[in-house]
Amino acid sequence: MISVEEALEKVLSYVDVLEPEQKAILDCLGQVLAEDIYSTVDIPPLDNSAMDGYAVRAEDNRGASRSSPRYLTVIGEVAAGALPRQTVKPGTAIRIMTGAPLPEGADAVVRFEDNDEVSRKSAGGELSQIGILCEVEEGLNVRRRGEDIAKGELVLERGTILRPQEIGVLASLGRATVRVIRRPVIAILATGDELVDIGQPLGAGKIYDSNTYTVAAEVSRYGGIPRILGIGRDSVQSLASKIDEGLDADMLITSGGVSKGDYDVVKDVLAAHGEIGFWTVCMKPGKPLAFGVIKKVVGGKQKSVPHLGLPGNPVSAMITFEQFARPAILKMMGKKNLAKPTVRAIIENDVPNKDSRRIFARVRVRRRGGQYYASLTGPQGSGILTSMAKANGLAIVPETSRGVKAGDMVDVQMLDWVEEQDQVKGYSGWVGKAVPVVGVVGRSRSGKTMLMEQLIGEFKHRGYTVAAVKHSRSEIEMDRPGKDSWKFAQAGSDAVLVSSPAKLAFLRTVERELTLEEILPLIGEEFDLVLVEGFRQSKIPKIEVHRKEQGDNLLCSDEELLAVVTDTPLDTDVPQFVWGDVTGVANLIEEKFLRIGSRRR
Ligand code: AMP
Ligand code: MG
Repeated sequence: MISVEEALEKVLSYVDVLEPEQKAILDCLGQVLAEDIYSTVDIPPLDNSAMDGYAVRAEDNRGASRSSPRYLTVIGEVAAGALPRQTVKPGTAIRIMTGAPLPEGADAVVRFEDNDEVSRKSAGGELSQIGILCEVEEGLNVRRRGEDIAKGELVLERGTILRPQEIGVLASLGRATVRVIRRPVIAILATGDELVDIGQPLGAGKIYDSNTYTVAAEVSRYGGIPRILGIGRDSVQSLASKIDEGLDADMLITSGGVSKGDYDVVKDVLAAHGEIGFWTVCMKPGKPLAFGVIKKVVGGKQKSVPHLGLPGNPVSAMITFEQFARPAILKMMGKKNLAKPTVRAIIENDVPNKDSRRIFARVRVRRRGGQYYASLTGPQGSGILTSMAKANGLAIVPETSRGVKAGDMVDVQMLDWVEEQDQVKGYSGWVGKAVPVVGVVGRSRSGKTMLMEQLIGEFKHRGYTVAAVKHSRSEIEMDRPGKDSWKFAQAGSDAVLVSSPAKLAFLRTVERELTLEEILPLIGEEFDLVLVEGFRQSKIPKIEVHRKEQGDNLLCSDEELLAVVTDTPLDTDVPQFVWGDVTGVANLIEEKFLRIGSRRR
């Protein structure tokens, strides 16, 4: 069995970046530039107005204001696309439209909101004069020549992926065509005697060929050009002739006929015509995969085309496509980033891993309050294509794990972008459940606070967001007599919220002490971890801080405890850490709550 990474490396070693082609810019969406684009023009080509208004000399308007306007003589008008004919001399102005070139002599534009044209017009007044109602700085509302792109500048580098905005930039430079790496042509062949093409009547025992269409759509989605060869029957003859039709393509993708005990025709046909490897890849679904190169002399010419043989089961075909065909297509197109976008999410179901393969579980990822949650899309059989239709991601359960439990963190390869499910719930309802909460308890003066501080520092250092909850019997800083918050509380206000640029504190009088479960929702879900000092009665996993001088007994029972931090060895099965081993304690928390099912990056 080979790993997903080994299989991918092998597939990629057989494909190369394709040659460039010259094409109309609008046909290049998603393709990679094969030339550096330098500008032959300035954009904008001339200083011009960013507003409708009047072109003026800033100097003429010193001290102008609404109460004391500065009056200028209007000597003309310039529209977008026209060239100004007059010069703005001291005491004059030219009416100007957005995008029109700035007349000589002018160095600023005063928009209509800051001159009296509108009121003048409604009063039926003269427009041979204009009142300027504000002080004007040089350059106000002026777009400078070349401020976007200067002539001679390198605007787009070779290797850039063309998105709508880059295509717009090319148009703004006047480029009608451009050199890009061409799109790969992917020949697609389904195999199986049971398959019927859509549009045909379905006989008994037959099924419609869906893989051809899934794969063709995937090829288009990632930028390739699908060439559908149709359905090859489970006979050497049928397959061989179909494969011949695909030899002009850059890659051949077949589906079906690769599992053990099958008719094995794909294997026979390919073995006769080239190198072929049949792999058992350490993944689920998608274990059987074929890969090789077909070499054949056609019309006296040696042809060679890489071949990827996907499993026949529709889900397996699609997932193996995503893992192996997609990166190959991207590489041929000249793209550098071949990895799928991945998010870390909390899985909402148990996914056991019994046979130590990498599981790609079909999930729907949703975002709630800044945290991603992934839930299985139903039965996970590799023939159940609707499990893919309902999914927007593939949750990864590593081959090294026995599986994941609901509440664990997993990596999810996104098939599409995540949907925002609902708004942050704010201060009502229990929303903190999915964020791991770990308590630090101990007798007074045992060093709880110190351990809290150390752990907060350690997890921040490891890149997590952390919230801390402290149980306090005494007044807190903001509640100190004399402070405004104290005064508001004294005045009878039930809740006082103090907000500063860096901090927010919420002070509220309560009738009874709240439980941790009631407090956690106030923190929300945006953190990776909540560390809680105190609250010994709550049911959260706890770390007890212990000192010998305080006796041999622990406060908590073994079942409640995640670990003990102690200055003396104790007779307990709970993991023990010596004082100062913050790394050890943090590793344990991370292992248990933050990284199960996902390797640290
Ligand atoms: P195979 O890998 O050929 O043994 O196929 C495994 C399963 O996938 C069988 O149940 C096939 O009927 C099914 N299958 C194979 N090819 C296709 C296809 N093109 N469309 C839909 N199902 C297929
Ligand atoms: Mg078959």
